[in-house]
Amino acid sequence: MCGIFGYIGPRDPVPIIMGGLKSLEYRGYDSAGVAIIQDGQLQIRRCSGKLKNLEELVAKQPLTGQYGLGHTRWATHGRPTEENAHPHRDCKGRIVVAHNGIIENYIDLKRKLLEEGHKFTTETDTEVIAHLIEKHFEGNLEQAVFKTLAQMRGLYAFTVVSADDPQKIVAVREGAPIIVGSVDGEGFVASDVPAVLPYTRSILFLDDHEVAVVARDGIHLFDSSGKSRTPQFQHITWD
Ligand code: GLU
Repeated sequence: MCGIFGYIGPRDPVPIIMGGLKSLEYRGYDSAGVAIIQDGQLQIRRCSGKLKNLEELVAKQPLTGQYGLGHTRWATHGRPTEENAHPHRDCKGRIVVAHNGIIENYIDLKRKLLEEGHKFTTETDTEVIAHLIEKHFEGNLEQAVFKTLAQMRGLYAFTVVSADDPQKIVAVREGAPIIVGSVDGEGFVASDVPAVLPYTRSILFLDDHEVAVVARDGIHLFDSSGKSRTPQFQHITWD
């Protein structure tokens, strides 16, 4: 089990994402990474080992920006190295994905993408998601995600951002847990509720085959084919 944490809002996303990953540490992991979007550019820091290593890296090579994603990885496909640590990018470095779970048909998908000229830089199954979204991207991130989901088999959850469709985080649930939190101009995505409780108690539990678009002005919910749904937020009363 890995941890995913995403933040969009007016505050500095880096300490919020690092804190979110810390509260997901109990799930176990072997490497970690963070991706931040600043003025249309993606910046990534990743390392193997504990979050302390990532904290030291971010202290040496600081990141600033408007929103982003963090990930703690439990390797299933590929060694627990820095190269295989999430988030993972497409060929152009404009799309970045943090993923939990397994893509069963990734070998077939990767073979086709390689034939089409995509360049892979990791041993993970996850990287096919970034390249599929790149292939389907025509300016709207969630539309590219719906087309990508139609090609993927497996049990997973992921979050994705694109520098070319800014100011949104798209979160997907297909058999692995992911929740979304929203409050006054801020949006959160996490693998588990306690990670967002310091910020909000208004939580949307995604069901399987659901996709949430998280933005500063709120959450839009869809099924995996792109049909709009009404989000049912729950108020969490426990600590
Ligand atoms: N299968 C992916 C990988 O090996 C995700 C693992 C996870 O859930 O952390 O990178």
